[in-house]
Amino acid sequence: MSQQKEKCKRCNGKGKISCPGCNGSGEIKAYNESFGKNNIVNCSGCRGSGTTECGVCGGSGEK
Ligand SMILES: [Zn+2]
Ligand SMILES: [Zn+2]
Repeated sequence: MSQQKEKCKRCNGKGKISCPGCNGSGEIKAYNESFGKNNIVNCSGCRGSGTTECGVCGGSGEK
């Protein structure tokens, strides 16, 4: 009998979750003083990918 692993509920088995820093877009607005307007820059939390490793399962998607 093999023990079945459960999907991680936090990330639904994907091992990754939407980045909370950019809400999954991978980009954040940063105000640029020298231009006086907002700049779109890659989110530092996910490095522009929009997803970040799930902290509950450590990225494995299982628990
Ligand atoms: Zn992000
Ligand atoms: Zn997870």
